[in-house]
Amino acid sequence: MVLRLSQLFLRTLREDPADAEVASHRLLVRAGYIRRAAPGIYTWLPLGLSVLRRVERIIREEMSAIGAQEVHFPALLPKEPYEASNRWTEYGEGIFRLKDRKGNDYLLAPTHEEMFTLLVKDLYSSYKDLPLSIYQIQNKYRDEARPRAGLLRGREFIMKDSYSFDVDDAGLDASYAAHRAAYLKIFERLGLEVVPVAATAGAMGGSKSEEFLHPTEIGEDTFVRSPGGYAANVEAVTTVVPADVDFSNAPAAEVRDTPDTPTIETLVDAANALAPRSEADGGAWTAADTLKNVVLAVTLPTGERQLVVLGVPGDRAVDLKRVEANIGAFLPIAGEITLEAANEEDLKKQALLVKGYIGPGLSLDAPLLGAEAASKLLYLVDPRVVRGTAWITGANEAGKHVFGLVAGRDFGWDGVIEATEVRAGDEAPDGSGPLETARGIEMGHIFQLGRKYAEALDLKVLDQNGKQVVVTMGSYGVGVTRAVAALAESNHDDKGLVWPRAVAPADVHVVAVGRGEEIFAAAEQLARALQAAGLEVIYDDRPKVSPGVKFGDAELIGVPTILAVGRGLVDGVVEIKDRRSGNAENVAVDKAVDYVVNAVRSN
Ligand code: ATP
Ligand code: MG
Repeated sequence: MVLRLSQLFLRTLREDPADAEVASHRLLVRAGYIRRAAPGIYTWLPLGLSVLRRVERIIREEMSAIGAQEVHFPALLPKEPYEASNRWTEYGEGIFRLKDRKGNDYLLAPTHEEMFTLLVKDLYSSYKDLPLSIYQIQNKYRDEARPRAGLLRGREFIMKDSYSFDVDDAGLDASYAAHRAAYLKIFERLGLEVVPVAATAGAMGGSKSEEFLHPTEIGEDTFVRSPGGYAANVEAVTTVVPADVDFSNAPAAEVRDTPDTPTIETLVDAANALAPRSEADGGAWTAADTLKNVVLAVTLPTGERQLVVLGVPGDRAVDLKRVEANIGAFLPIAGEITLEAANEEDLKKQALLVKGYIGPGLSLDAPLLGAEAASKLLYLVDPRVVRGTAWITGANEAGKHVFGLVAGRDFGWDGVIEATEVRAGDEAPDGSGPLETARGIEMGHIFQLGRKYAEALDLKVLDQNGKQVVVTMGSYGVGVTRAVAALAESNHDDKGLVWPRAVAPADVHVVAVGRGEEIFAAAEQLARALQAAGLEVIYDDRPKVSPGVKFGDAELIGVPTILAVGRGLVDGVVEIKDRRSGNAENVAVDKAVDYVVNAVRSN
């Protein structure tokens, strides 16, 4: 079918939408691909659907190529399976919950591990049935705290989610590897650069996991790479831990008056004035010699608020995303949490924490001051705080710090956590060189879930020896609507969208420029001929619309080839323009179809 602009359900906009912060959001709205229905919730218009369908087709083909079969679950789900996995609670405010008329609880699925697990349990019972990979392309619902950037972070979005079921670990490894390879193909075919990086499993649980990040400045994820090939989301980077230090000759710790030193900077100045350190002992004190104690408030999925104190080297900032990714092991319950700096109210309830002068408790058993405090407060330290390291840190009294407080001798901790920022130049954990940092958008995520869900929901099969074994699972997601946005983000210029061929809403955009009937007749004929040649055609047949508006719309919509029928027609030529390079050529009317067909085929 030729899409005629005189009929197509489309209104392009001259003005940027007021709420759009990024180019993809602005342009997808202005070019008539999507419309906002509510925060983070979008309506798809014909052009947008066309791009979406093309993205989905590529994903389906590559899923099918690894033998994954498509199914389709409801988005509206009963609570019980999510209670069994505990995610009804763990998701906290992150999901949409609702009740039916009888008062039963339901949710809009944020992801479908539970349902897939139960479906397989329902139908399969033997190792002979496995391995199995099944997937769906479906709406997901998450009540994101900060829906953002249009389709990039929606509250309703489309995900392709697949799940693999294997009888043993080797099987899971194979299923995981097949998905990983399929993902690389999908993104290559979409024309979307991605970097696979090591990731943390987050709320999903499980062991091995990788994300596919599309490098871009507007990405919310930070990742690192080393010259030797290490790549990881900063959330998953582990610090190179220094060796323990022999402290047998270390002097006793000493409390000193350090009035008006509530910040690291003021403390370092005071330390150098009060107790200058000789060159032989390491020279002037720096922020790295201080132990900064940062109090965070964690809101658990149950809504309960808990304080955590982090002891980190004073030259390193706390990275909340890293804390969030790694603190789960220390909390009483798993699941989605929110983290923020503790506020005045929080601190008031903990009288022993003296703002600006907080330090570890002076006892190995009670990492923070007093048994009562210790039972309520967790004290976690950076991996650089190894046994024997000596620190300048708060003495838990206003205007006082303690010097030479030795880790493992004078103070202890409840745990070690990766909580500080990863910096460019830090060593890669595998010794493959200094890290470089970059930003990216998470396009896909693959997990070896292992037996967590199968255990929670009792998915077992009979193995070769007739014994019941718990199935091991993988879970694999691609953000389909997010892919549309990321493609728009990395394929645009100041005039509009510039789609890669694989996903463009059409192959060619024919524009009739001018008023003459013969121009419209020739354009009409070309549009039909292009369509007959197997191409998808948009034809701007609008009468009485100025050439400027028509070209403006063509550039905004972003079909890779624009064919203009206009003044040249009297000389027997049309203009064919490559939207991406901007190169235009006059081509004889009777050669135009071949020319476009070739252009489409060649890239
Ligand atoms: P993020 O860290 O960006 O919140 P996530 O880790 O919660 O994502 P997963 O649960 O791994 O996401 O979901 C699989 C894929 O679904 C992601 O890789 C991403 O491409 C996509 N996705 C997740 N959340 C959203 C969202 N709010 N809007 C659009 N796509 C999303
Ligand atoms: Mg993820």
